Amino acid sequence: MNLQSYASGHWFTSTAKGNAIRDASSGENIAEVTSDGLDFKAMLAYGRDVGGPKLRAMTFHERAIMLKEVALKLGEFKDALYAASYQTGATKADTWIDVDGGIQTFFVYSSKGRKEMPNQPWYVDGDVEQLSRGGSFLGQHIMVPRQGVALHINAFNFPVWGMMEKLAPTLLAGMPAIIKPASATAHLTEMAVRYMTDSGILPEGTLQLICGRTGDLFDHLTCQDVVTFTGSANTARHLQAHPVFAEKSVPFLAECDSLNATILGEDAGPDTPEFDLFIREIVREMTSKAGQKCTAIRRIIVPAKSVGTVQEALKAKLENITVGDPRIKGVRMGPLASLAQRNEVIERVQELASCADISLDGTKPFEPMGANYGAGAFVKPTLLFCDAPLDNETIHSVEAFGPVVTIMPYDTVADAITLANMGEGSLVASLFSHDPDVVFEVAMGIGAYHGRLVVIDRSSAEESTGHGSPLPHMKHGGPGRAGGGEEQGGIRAVKHFMQRMAVQGSPDVLTNITRKWVSGAAEQTMDAHPFRKSFDEIKVGDTLITKSRTVSLEDIEHFANFTGDTFYAHMDEVAAAANPIFGGRVAHGYLLLSFAAGLFVDPAPGPVLANVGLNDLKFTKPVYPGDVIQVRLVCKQRTARMNEDFGEVRWDVTVTNQLGEECANYELLTHNERVQ
Ligand code: NAP
Repeated sequence: MNLQSYASGHWFTSTAKGNAIRDASSGENIAEVTSDGLDFKAMLAYGRDVGGPKLRAMTFHERAIMLKEVALKLGEFKDALYAASYQTGATKADTWIDVDGGIQTFFVYSSKGRKEMPNQPWYVDGDVEQLSRGGSFLGQHIMVPRQGVALHINAFNFPVWGMMEKLAPTLLAGMPAIIKPASATAHLTEMAVRYMTDSGILPEGTLQLICGRTGDLFDHLTCQDVVTFTGSANTARHLQAHPVFAEKSVPFLAECDSLNATILGEDAGPDTPEFDLFIREIVREMTSKAGQKCTAIRRIIVPAKSVGTVQEALKAKLENITVGDPRIKGVRMGPLASLAQRNEVIERVQELASCADISLDGTKPFEPMGANYGAGAFVKPTLLFCDAPLDNETIHSVEAFGPVVTIMPYDTVADAITLANMGEGSLVASLFSHDPDVVFEVAMGIGAYHGRLVVIDRSSAEESTGHGSPLPHMKHGGPGRAGGGEEQGGIRAVKHFMQRMAVQGSPDVLTNITRKWVSGAAEQTMDAHPFRKSFDEIKVGDTLITKSRTVSLEDIEHFANFTGDTFYAHMDEVAAAANPIFGGRVAHGYLLLSFAAGLFVDPAPGPVLANVGLNDLKFTKPVYPGDVIQVRLVCKQRTARMNEDFGEVRWDVTVTNQLGEECANYELLTHNERVQ
């Protein structure tokens, strides 16, 4: 039975003969996979014409809530997803990373979308730029969703997480997606997509699925589409050679393989906590997903004096790892995803062995627990040792995508850095050291070659997420061989699916486009005090000019004694006169803030619920005893919070003196009640 694809709003079954997907432990046929007969051009058009407009009409907050609802729905089907995951060779712990990790990524993006993005469909990127002396011509970058489709081509190792970590930022950005999972584990992705589409939560046209190859799809891409790819560097090169990428500037974001390194610091001898953490982490990385993680440790860089101890400690632990069918209790490591993958790993180990010694060989037949070696894709952990790693390119370039690592010695920290960088670009490196100088030197030395550095020592080990876990908050991706792409990293990933545009014009033009008041834009005097207005009654540009107030020396001394801030610039006439900035006693900045609040608040209970923050405070001119201050409050931005009975209002607050000169400026945040 061929797996179905989800195309143009319908489940489609190809009638052609497909390639078999087999249970990784038993070899039983699960399904077949081919996309023959799919109309790829129509799929792209459907995403662009049906899904795109629906998503673009939603705000970031609405899309974020959609992600949360999808995640909750998927959570209801975990048992079925787990069962399918075991068929891919994943243990329960591996399955948590894939299934639960995927669902969790949707939750994180949902939360970030609501906290860090506005409740509108476009994104204001960075600050206003002054482009003219008089201030009548300004610039602002904004980002809008791309009007195409994101095609996500994924690797076999994380059929759920691999899809979800790309889908979350895509949908949050307002772009529809087509998912193309790797064939070997496509049945699990298909199951998750089916639960998502059946839920009815996603607007029509926002999610489609290709089980099988992509046919002539690339021929129909336009400049509004995006392709992301996760897989081997060879496939990335092959796909990116399609002329559409050069001719139409279609972004191609690649996450490829890399020879990730871990370094043991010279300070981390066998009697230190860092040494034990190092051994534990390597074993975890080798056995988790049977080493089929793009981030897994492949190269172990250790001080020459510690090579023997590290080898013995690893061997002792790895020889005791129980390999077998992951559904059997007691199995610590499952098989690789397919027999083809096992053949590939064995070949790569042979290639590595041409220039390194095998100190633990896991590629020979053995009896896996609860399974037949011939039917499943089983290998055991394999350790290699290379004694001249600076002169050897193979160990820094051949990736065995399984539980295989090479140990290599170094003499100086500079050598360790050179070795780590010989991978020519990696997703991640880890360092086990408690020496701040070593940590700094390594961070600076490997930074340009690595996407992520995890430093593990006694102070963070208990809570550390470890070497190989990409997190939605942090960037995942690396330079060079790792593909040069960037995924996740919080809201950074959302921006891949949006177009950045520089808008230039008058303050009124920018305010109109961004819905964010810009200094110099029209202000309308409010017909009532702002504290008497609900969120829904306040408009961007609404302005209040307060009464004025004289700041006396008594005020300054009273404030100083009351708060304890008796800094000489406020209290000592002679010392303050000698100060090059003040030239005499001045009012406290915080006194000005307090007086400003005293001037603009309206005390009675009303729609303003709370003052929740203050941003970008600048004291621009000193205020001297006898100066007369006044405050101007302009509504800068309004953000309605979904499912909340209040909205956030940002006010531009300027304190001026009797000459109209600005003495302080800041952004004030209030929560205001809504009327609906
Ligand atoms: P792969 O063989 O390169 O395949 C990756 C994806 O490309 C699969 O979906 C595959 O589909 C598709 N593909 C291959 N040829 C294609 C073509 N001509 N047209 C359209 N699609 C094509 O990689 P893999 O074996 O799935 O994954 C293992 C590799 O991925 C390892 O090298 C690993 O390091 C890397 N990886 C990297 C990351 C990362 O985030 N950097 C994550 C995971 C894995 P089919 O399956 O249908 O061939």
